[in-house]
Amino acid sequence: MTFFDRRNPHQESHSADRAGWLRAAVLGANDGLVSIASLMVGIAASGASTSAVVTGGLAGLSAGAMSMAAGEYVSVSSQVDVETADRAKEQRELAENPEAELAELTAIYRARGVPQDLARQVALALHEADPLQAHLRDELGQSEHTAAKPLQAALASAASFLMGGLVPFLGLLAGTATARLWLIVAVTLLGLAGAGVLAARAAGTGVLRPTLRVVLGGGLAMAITAAVGQIADVSGV
Ligand SMILES: [Zn+2]
Repeated sequence: MTFFDRRNPHQESHSADRAGWLRAAVLGANDGLVSIASLMVGIAASGASTSAVVTGGLAGLSAGAMSMAAGEYVSVSSQVDVETADRAKEQRELAENPEAELAELTAIYRARGVPQDLARQVALALHEADPLQAHLRDELGQSEHTAAKPLQAALASAASFLMGGLVPFLGLLAGTATARLWLIVAVTLLGLAGAGVLAARAAGTGVLRPTLRVVLGGGLAMAITAAVGQIADVSGV
């Protein structure tokens, strides 16, 4: 349950930010679809009763949502800690050695291709306006709208996992045990295809290949878990 991109989830520009958010939601939903469907298919393939399948699915749903929320909360919180520490360090440096900080900012603009004189002018002007913001933004890449929000990230993760994880339950509408198993597989593959199309749209890429990838991957995951379920049944575990 680690489909969220934890390397760098909060350092994208404005429009990319929204795409990143949608992408994270789609991946969370994918995660819910595949893990809950696999769980239910695995339990069903072991020959267990429908109530065992439902119980397993519900337990997986809450476990997965909690795990996603907790994992995301911890990960984003540590990002906030890093940002807070960086901000305090910058504040201290600006208070203790403003000249060195000015030179540092000038060097940053120089490195981006701004001529020395102009770089110095820009750095001076920004130091007069709001030196801390200038350093946080141009030195550390922090800004208001990229600030990490742990609770929001945790809730979004859990919600997208739940949205995906509820889809396999539609399979329970079928009449017989075998039909239920196949309907779970079918609605899950459909859900994955839908999520794949959304993800491709968000990324602005072609639709067919990423969708096929996600559908085949999900199908494989369910097949493997079903096989494990059957082995468990045969061995009488
Ligand atoms: Zn600095």
